[in-house]
Amino acid sequence: MKQFVLENPTSLNEAVELLGTDPAQAQLLAGGMDLLGRLKKRIDTPARVVNLQSVPGLASIRENAGGLSLGALVTLTDLAENPVVLAKYRAVAEAAKSVGSVQIRNAGTLGGNLCQRPRCWYFRHRNYVCLQKNGTECFGQVGESRYHAILGGGPCFFAHPSDVAPALIAFDATVRVVGPKGERTASLESMYCLPSVKMGYGLTLEPGEIVAEVRLPAPRPGARSTYVKFKEKPSFDFSIAGVAAVIALENGQVAHARLALSGVAPIPWRAAEAEKALLGAKLDEPLARRVNDLGWHVQIHMKGEQIAAIEDLLLRVPAPLVFDHLGRLAQPGALEGAGFKTISRLIDKGRTWVKLSGAYQESKVGPPSYSDTVPLARAYIKAAPERMVWASDWPHPTEKVKPDDAVLFDLLGEWAPDPVTRRLILVQNPATLYGFPTSV
Ligand SMILES: Cc1cc2nc3c(=O)[nH]c(=O)nc-3n(C[C@H](O)[C@H](O)[C@H](O)COP(=O)(O)OP(=O)(O)OC[C@H]3O[C@@H](n4cnc5c(N)ncnc54)[C@H](O)[C@@H]3O)c2cc1C
Ligand code: SF4
Repeated sequence: MKQFVLENPTSLNEAVELLGTDPAQAQLLAGGMDLLGRLKKRIDTPARVVNLQSVPGLASIRENAGGLSLGALVTLTDLAENPVVLAKYRAVAEAAKSVGSVQIRNAGTLGGNLCQRPRCWYFRHRNYVCLQKNGTECFGQVGESRYHAILGGGPCFFAHPSDVAPALIAFDATVRVVGPKGERTASLESMYCLPSVKMGYGLTLEPGEIVAEVRLPAPRPGARSTYVKFKEKPSFDFSIAGVAAVIALENGQVAHARLALSGVAPIPWRAAEAEKALLGAKLDEPLARRVNDLGWHVQIHMKGEQIAAIEDLLLRVPAPLVFDHLGRLAQPGALEGAGFKTISRLIDKGRTWVKLSGAYQESKVGPPSYSDTVPLARAYIKAAPERMVWASDWPHPTEKVKPDDAVLFDLLGEWAPDPVTRRLILVQNPATLYGFPTSV
């Protein structure tokens, strides 16, 4: 680590003054969970580090008539455990609780979490001088991009790492920012922008600006919320994909909906189209109708016997159905079971698809042959080859011991020995179902 001078300001104005506007000269320190790693790796080598922790009054959570005020130095543990946040802004508490490990949540602060830099492994390696470091190329675009953005990327493709930001955005949070030009308030959503607009780690903050406070408006009457996060490593990990949802009902209809996604784009991503689709929905009105209007489909992920029990409902669903994981039919005897008969009847009626995937889910024979899946997959393919799609199921979230992806892919050769059918399953059918271009 390059030696630096540690500054301990006692007011926000002094912090702004010491910070200046040149990150090469000074950087702001909150909990240090992000900054210290970057200093140690010499990704940043400032001459001064300005310690925000020495500024009093920034670590409180206060409820007021207008809502809730969260100081920038509130720790993620405080946010996850505060009774008001838990009762009224549950998605925020759940998102904070989902961050890293206990140690990271105890030290990491709200402001630091919202302003943390990309977790892209090229960015975190000092030898890769990428676009975000004033370089000329994005190594993520040509190199290993497994965890990068699937939405909104370009010319930089990192996936925004914060869990807390989408949850706060779903509650229409605002931020109070102080900087060299004074103080301003803005929506938290506007604090983020795509790299195509500005190459600033997804942030619109001007050099030297400090987030002092996050404000949450009073939640709408009857609003309920949650944050659901999928991570690869169960103990602690960044989001592969997550969603913060805030929904309020009036007279049984969705009157307000906010959905913000984590881990999928260089910014916390508002799912505006899905929000619109929810508006006006009644809980007893099948959402499937709206799903169909949007050209989407309903994906079914339930055990074979449960599928058979709701056959009537499935026949009424006014949208295409996609059965995941070969329909999850119990082995041995999948072909004789009620679930297969139900799926077969639905296939005959059209608009029903099957994902030839997840061989390990119900196979009793197991790897490497998964031979008990072969008659089942072949029966599906025989019934409607034009409505079969293949899926890798990576990263196999249900499996403690991960299956061999190459073995699973080779299995398709057993399921569909004919190359013309395989091409249908791998290329044409997914293009039809998901609207992919077919010219590849
Ligand atoms: C192993 C590991 C796992 C993690 N897992 C997750 C996870 O699952 N989900 C998740 O969301 N995050 C995760 N993180 C990131 C972690 O939550 C953030 O790094 C942390 O919250 C940052 O807070 P901090 O107070 O430590 O920030 P610092 O490291 O002190 O600062 C982070 C950056 O923000 C700037 N900054 C800090 N405060 C402010 C402010 N008030 N105004 C303007 N700029 C500011 C700093 O200058 C610095 O560049 C993980 C980190 C690690 C190391
Ligand atoms: S994705 Fe962004 S942060 Fe990662 S290498 Fe490309 S430009 Fe750099």
